[in-house]
Amino acid sequence: MAVGIEPDDLFAPAETGSVRRLAPNLQRLVAPNPSPLTGPGTNTYLVGSGPHYLVIDPGPDDTTHLDRILAATHGRISHVLCTHSHPDHSPGAAVLKARTEAVVLGQPAPRDEYQDDSYRPDRTLDDGDVIAVSGAGVRAFHTPGHASNHVCLLLEPEGWLLTGDHLMGGSTVVILPPDGSMRLYLESLRRLRTLPLTALLPGHGAVMADPLGEIDRVIAHRLQRERKVVAGLLQLGGAATLGELLPLVYADTPVAMHPWARHSLLAHLQKLLEERRVAQDGECWAWLAA
Ligand SMILES: [Zn+2]
Repeated sequence: MAVGIEPDDLFAPAETGSVRRLAPNLQRLVAPNPSPLTGPGTNTYLVGSGPHYLVIDPGPDDTTHLDRILAATHGRISHVLCTHSHPDHSPGAAVLKARTEAVVLGQPAPRDEYQDDSYRPDRTLDDGDVIAVSGAGVRAFHTPGHASNHVCLLLEPEGWLLTGDHLMGGSTVVILPPDGSMRLYLESLRRLRTLPLTALLPGHGAVMADPLGEIDRVIAHRLQRERKVVAGLLQLGGAATLGELLPLVYADTPVAMHPWARHSLLAHLQKLLEERRVAQDGECWAWLAA
């Protein structure tokens, strides 16, 4: 099966609808759900060299995509693992469970309007759990932040981290409070930084080759945005509403994305509130620290 694998295959673009073998024990299928938030589409990873496979993030309930997963695994799926339960990642799990022997693993879904309501893991995937098939194994790391039930999965011994939506190729992850938390997002990134990583395999976009550099870049980007939040508050006299801050803090972001940026702005303010650097009075956020 390793015949014909070129080293560059691991870093090939993640084209919408593509099926690509990244390594002898790893395939990537890109779901046909491209959008500004999902990039070229959701990446589904098939782990193992057969006869059984782990499916990571089965993606949306899309017949074409799910049929491709079943064809690439010959229907022999031992486990379906979901990094989290947003509707672009987990709805395919129930379908694959119904059509195979697969056990669905993940953390239970929180209750909010952004979750896949069909998501029912058979077993909770706890921090440190290892799930193995022939030719590969993954270790789970609970990484709250983008979503409270988010897990990243480390393919061992390769050191390849399947990051779900914690890190994305080519764009910034949206943090949706109250389930999402900027403080926990940054804490999870700092924890991932301590792992022996050699590549990041995101839930959207191509593989990233420099894990430490990418994690540090994202931490720096978030802290730079936080400084813009503080600067915006000061520019507006020390107190402002979300609507007043948004155009100042996200002047570099297309206006069409501002409804989503508004969630991340709220997440930044809540982090500052938790750190007692701002106070909240109804719609108004006020700077406290010098
Ligand atoms: Zn997500």
